[in-house]
Amino acid sequence: MRAQVITFGCQMNEYDTHSIQSELAGIGYSFVDDYHEADLVIVNTCAVRGKPVDKAQTLLGELRKEKQRRRGLTIGLIGCLAQLPEGQRIGKKFGVDIMLGPGAVTQIVPAIQRGRFQSFEFDNELKFYTPPAPTGALTAHLIIMRGCNHRCTYCVVPSTRGPEVSRPAQDIINEARALKEAGVVEVTLLGQNVNSYGLEPGTGARRARLEGFPSFAELLRMVGRVGIPRVRFLTSHPINFDDEIIEAIADTPAVCRFVHLPVQSGSDRMLKRMAREYNSEYYMSRIRRIRQLLPDATISTDLIAGFPGETEDDFNETLELYREARYDAAYMFVYSEREGTPAAVHFEDLPRRVKVERLTRLVNLSKEVSHEQNQRWVGQRVEVLIKGPSDEQGFCQGHSRGNHVAVVEGDLEPGIHQVVVTHATANRLYARPA
Ligand code: SAM
Ligand code: SF4
Repeated sequence: MRAQVITFGCQMNEYDTHSIQSELAGIGYSFVDDYHEADLVIVNTCAVRGKPVDKAQTLLGELRKEKQRRRGLTIGLIGCLAQLPEGQRIGKKFGVDIMLGPGAVTQIVPAIQRGRFQSFEFDNELKFYTPPAPTGALTAHLIIMRGCNHRCTYCVVPSTRGPEVSRPAQDIINEARALKEAGVVEVTLLGQNVNSYGLEPGTGARRARLEGFPSFAELLRMVGRVGIPRVRFLTSHPINFDDEIIEAIADTPAVCRFVHLPVQSGSDRMLKRMAREYNSEYYMSRIRRIRQLLPDATISTDLIAGFPGETEDDFNETLELYREARYDAAYMFVYSEREGTPAAVHFEDLPRRVKVERLTRLVNLSKEVSHEQNQRWVGQRVEVLIKGPSDEQGFCQGHSRGNHVAVVEGDLEPGIHQVVVTHATANRLYARPA
């Protein structure tokens, strides 16, 4: 029996794909890279923006044709899109056999055994689920919590992934130990908002701790002691990014000094419309504190250009905040209207050309700022995790503790190396072995 699991979207989906592959391997499946050779094709989807939804639809169209040729082919649609009414319409249209939401991925084996099956429940068992450690991998993801309690008006995640559930700390530590044993040298702790780990239901800055759970800052220190040389985490919500976390990063040598802190907009009017729960002054106070306690930290963000109602003045405030925060990197998106979200129901989408023109200005600014920020590293010794050969001849490639793409002269073995940065562009550090 041969299967292909095709993944769209974020690291959470990659982690779920890894769990599904382990479950399938357990019942005798091997894996192929071409759906023409597969008996089972599972499409693990993303629904955060329109583009990944379009990609999934194109693929499902091809799979439907393949199924008309080969009756024995089973098609599964799983992940965020499967959870939404939009995805369920798409599943029906393309004759999908199995549909599982992100809270039901561990039901994959019974689903295959039944042939036609769907589940959109949030399986409580998932919080105890530990996938087997990967073999031969240097980097790994480790889920510490699932779901999101926030209600950002543009976002489908609370509907697709359900409310926040934290995994027991001991399970996380056991998984981290297994990853270390398997030879992993960099682990990324994952969650929609990792820094609400172990907090009572609700939102806001003042949430009480769940009984028996450490805080996220304590968890960072605990994972830092496991002995994996690099520990990262993604993503943090600014409202819960407290000083305790910044201090834990500063005190724990294994934790990389890299913070991804999505701001979305620099305009207080837009932040309010987005229901982000903070204003620009509060957000910048977090950035200043990070820069103060971790002067060598790299900071990245997410931004949305052209949110409904955004004026030129609002957008200029975003550009101003960007300059002030001096981000090392950013993920920038045009606003994408998503069915059923409060923004889609209550606000009017801006013309596409306005959104794209603003995104272009933002991207140009980000290149300028990243280029300046990256010059700080020229002449410095940095640690790089080499993954393999670079697309540039005569170089190998990896990433620094600060998450810069690093291109290094020669062909160093995969693993951790010390290098000296010789020059830098907006998106790469060039280096030679130290
Ligand atoms: N939980 C994280 C947070 O709050 O920052 C991020 C999760 S979300 C999957 C990743 C990013 O996608 C968001 O930070 C936002 O910038 C972007 N995003 C989410 N919904 C979007 C939409 N409807 N249109 C454009 N970008 C969107
Ligand atoms: Fe979406 Fe907001 Fe939750 Fe992030 S915090 S996943 S943007 S609702």
